[in-house]
Amino acid sequence: MAINVHSPEAVIRESRLGAITGYKGTIRELAAQASCGALKNRERCFTQTSACSSGCAQFYLSGIVDAAVVNHAPVGCAADAVYNNTANKWGEKIRGWKHRNINLISTNMTEEDTVFGAADKLRDAVREAYRRFAPKAIFVTTSCVSGIIGEDIKSVLDDLRAEIPVPLAPVFCEGFKSKVWASGFDAAFHAILTTVVKPPAKRTNKVNMINFRGSARETIISLLNRLDLEPVFIVPFSTVAELSKIAEACATISICGTLGGYLGNALEEQYGVPYVKTLQPHGVAGMDSWLRGLGAATGREAAVEEYIKTEKARLAPELAEIRAKLKGYKAVVGMGPSFGHNYMRVLQELGIEVVWGATWHFDQHYDHGVCPESTQQLADSTVNIPVSVCDQQNFELLNVLHGLKPDLYISRHGGTAVWATKMGIASVMVADEFTAFGYQGILDFGYLLLDAVTNRSLAKNLASRLKLPYTGWWLRQNGFRFLAEEVE
Ligand code: SF4
Repeated sequence: MAINVHSPEAVIRESRLGAITGYKGTIRELAAQASCGALKNRERCFTQTSACSSGCAQFYLSGIVDAAVVNHAPVGCAADAVYNNTANKWGEKIRGWKHRNINLISTNMTEEDTVFGAADKLRDAVREAYRRFAPKAIFVTTSCVSGIIGEDIKSVLDDLRAEIPVPLAPVFCEGFKSKVWASGFDAAFHAILTTVVKPPAKRTNKVNMINFRGSARETIISLLNRLDLEPVFIVPFSTVAELSKIAEACATISICGTLGGYLGNALEEQYGVPYVKTLQPHGVAGMDSWLRGLGAATGREAAVEEYIKTEKARLAPELAEIRAKLKGYKAVVGMGPSFGHNYMRVLQELGIEVVWGATWHFDQHYDHGVCPESTQQLADSTVNIPVSVCDQQNFELLNVLHGLKPDLYISRHGGTAVWATKMGIASVMVADEFTAFGYQGILDFGYLLLDAVTNRSLAKNLASRLKLPYTGWWLRQNGFRFLAEEVE
């Protein structure tokens, strides 16, 4: 089995999936090298800031409505809690829920703690989290500091179990361990799998839908109900009780291959819940693939085909109109690997030429042992797209944008979209994971892109008034000069 649920921690992506953060080439070379095991990471001798797996784990786990997160770290490691709270507010609004702050506290480790340890502080923080939030589970996320000093978090939680009657889960997600921040998702899922999920008592018609905020939940509920299935949206906005039962589901689907692979494959390997391993449900080809995968996993092939036929007939004329209007525009994409390679396909479906695709890492294979489906699909298509892999290194991206001067920059992270806008390039930040979801979604996304390319005044005005920190000299350089040469 690829995933060991008997180990206290998840193996990082570099070791488990051959994940890399440094690459420049084409999509075909990337897929070919990954498939034969010849792909090597190209290290950088210079990097700018990036994100970390601890922040990623905190973000995901703090979305569980009745759990608490204790971050055993200096307080700065919890700085993203501000964003997490905002994202939480957004999801609450979608559901019409009253706002509450996320349940997250930091142990606020100090310099002294790095010498003498902070086990007592951690013990007090877990007690305080239980007193303050009355959670149904407590997750203790690690950090570089607690990891480097070798704090024995597991023993602290083992001792507290007699006193605190809810699952206490260590989440080993130290930022220094992995350059791939998505390793934090795996660490979060590993903690859920090993401390919250119960072996199945029965098989239900529920489908685990792994996602972030779930803005398309009404659409998905109605779609799955047509198939006599019931989605359970996990992990954010779910409860500990719901999570404890996910091994009873009849299938697992995900909005993102990077996000869902660990939990989906672990549930399949451990409890026989089929994980739908297809393209992401963005755009037409993605939705076709995702629905057919779900139909095959649950024995609903005929109903799925009927739905696909009806929906595609409905959207065809409008999609053709949008394609005609977007034809000839050029775009650069900068996103996580699964979203990036899926949105590159969606842009092509909309008639846009993708002139570069940058992804924040690349998994050479998923936990089910194959090259990511979206990467392979792009590599097998007629156009060979130049691609790069960087953990959101803006100094590389800005040179790509400066050189290619695309009409559009499509990203999923504000930390890069803002720079393209400041360069005068119309940018769309796909913050909602259900943007371009399925058949209606691609039409809506098409109109959004049309708005972006036909009204560029924001980008133009910003560019004319701002001075970039990157000089003209730098922008004329080869932005990949800090990547190590490829080694055989
Ligand atoms: S865990 Fe490490 S990398 Fe992450 S914020 Fe803290 S110090 Fe930085």
